[in-house]
Amino acid sequence: MSTLYGQMMDMPLVISGLLRHAENNHSDTEIVTRRIEGDIHRYTYADAGQRIRKLANALEASGIKQGDRTATLAWNTYRHFELYYAVSGMGAVLHTINPRLHPEQVAWIVNHAEDRILFFDATFAPIVDAIAEHCPTIEHWVALSDADKMPELKKVKAISYEDYIRDHADQYEWPTLDENAAAALCYTSGTTGNPKGVLYSHRSLVLHTYGACLPDAFGVDATDIVLPVVPMFHVNAWSLPYVGALAGVKLVFPGAKLDGESLYELFEGEKVTISAGVPTVWLLVLQFLQQNNKKLSTLKRMTVGGSACPPALMKTFKQDYGVQLEHAWGMTEMSPLGTYNHPKAKHLGLSEEERFNVALSQGRAVFGVEMKIVDDKGQRMPQDGKSTGDLHVRGPWVVKQYFKKDESPLVDGWFPTGDVGHIDADGYLTITDRTKDVIKSGGEWIGSIDIENIAMAHPAVAMAACIAAKHEKWDERPLLIVQLKEGQSPSKEEILAHFEGKIAKWWTPDDVLFVDGLPLGATGKVQKNKLRDEYGDHLMKQAG
Ligand code: AMP
Repeated sequence: MSTLYGQMMDMPLVISGLLRHAENNHSDTEIVTRRIEGDIHRYTYADAGQRIRKLANALEASGIKQGDRTATLAWNTYRHFELYYAVSGMGAVLHTINPRLHPEQVAWIVNHAEDRILFFDATFAPIVDAIAEHCPTIEHWVALSDADKMPELKKVKAISYEDYIRDHADQYEWPTLDENAAAALCYTSGTTGNPKGVLYSHRSLVLHTYGACLPDAFGVDATDIVLPVVPMFHVNAWSLPYVGALAGVKLVFPGAKLDGESLYELFEGEKVTISAGVPTVWLLVLQFLQQNNKKLSTLKRMTVGGSACPPALMKTFKQDYGVQLEHAWGMTEMSPLGTYNHPKAKHLGLSEEERFNVALSQGRAVFGVEMKIVDDKGQRMPQDGKSTGDLHVRGPWVVKQYFKKDESPLVDGWFPTGDVGHIDADGYLTITDRTKDVIKSGGEWIGSIDIENIAMAHPAVAMAACIAAKHEKWDERPLLIVQLKEGQSPSKEEILAHFEGKIAKWWTPDDVLFVDGLPLGATGKVQKNKLRDEYGDHLMKQAG
């Protein structure tokens, strides 16, 4: 039987379409940035469009072609926003790098991606100096700075972003791209081994942006003022730079200042209505509000994700400040949105306590994402709110393969998230655990294997395991559990000193516990789940 095709236009879903929409419909809507240079920068989507086209011309003049990777090491600013649209819009691939990684890892990622240009904020000049000699694919280094405020660099000759775009025309025809062409690349360290690249397509990003705007997701409209605290190097700031253009919201970028006071100033000064970030950020904001007796006059909602939202945090923001913390779950491999927590009509009549309990779960799937819980044998488990197993997902904005990896991570066409949880009959997901062996501290991954390898290289250590221990401020911190060689008795401090210079400082374990033996499974692997059960609360107990 032949297919009867629909007869609608075949317009590709591409990033440049989002920009065109914003320019046509929201030209005078503002984009505000606290610049790295210190001052507040303010312009409109129309102004942004002009500079984005200048940048696209500049990239073409640098020889950047469709599919070429263009990297950023940058905060949330208007210049980073311009890169989002110019690089992807012209058909190249925007590769946002996490500057919190150790320079060795940054260099590894740059080489793996074969980035041709690196745009960096002045803050990250030391990283540029550290990686320059190890990154032969980079042809141009561009500092996201005014020409007279260039950072000092020892190892590279960089040009200022303003000089880079200055002489280029602000006219540019966006090419008609295949919507399945790559648009952006983001590496995740949330897996074992080297970081893995997730290559988003124009189509996946645009569909995700539609999904993210839904009333039961970010639910923004053209009256909203949105401040993404979540960095633009973390899964595209959860897509908020794209959401901004689609919905015509005023965007407020916080630059490098993410402390409670600086965020508070922007919330109030720019009349922000919605914000988004990891729980650690909201803990800092709360501390500032409490210590300084401040109130929030315009903020209505904050999306919290990346780690589980502590119940007390949600309660205090609601009761004392009238701000609803909305719990969302997702991952780099999912662009990132998987679930978002909003109530259903049937919840509206519930008591405040009962509604609070619903709000604590990770929320319901956004249309575009399907979820299932499977048991050890891969069999689907009932959606009854208690059958707990591995969470698998699929959808048009879920990864099917990692960049430059031949093998597919999929199981029967579904992506195994490495998260464990249950789903109830109303579709609400609750994450209870994680099978992947990584630690998430303040929204950033720490690789337990790297830590174990360094510990094991210490001459007194026979075996070591690093686990995620619960932490009040950072959600999780690394805890090292060590079995010593016979006759050895180094101090904790000696073991920790061994990490200096080998990993980023914030990866250093918070504590070291010495044990007589580590629990081993049938295949000789350390049973981390047993260690987590036994020592997972160690840091909380220590803190009292
Ligand atoms: P990333 O790829 O860095 O965005 O990290 C994704 C992972 O963070 C997920 O697989 C979860 O393990 C964790 N995660 C994200 N959001 C939440 C949440 N709301 N609650 C619990 N864990 C979360």
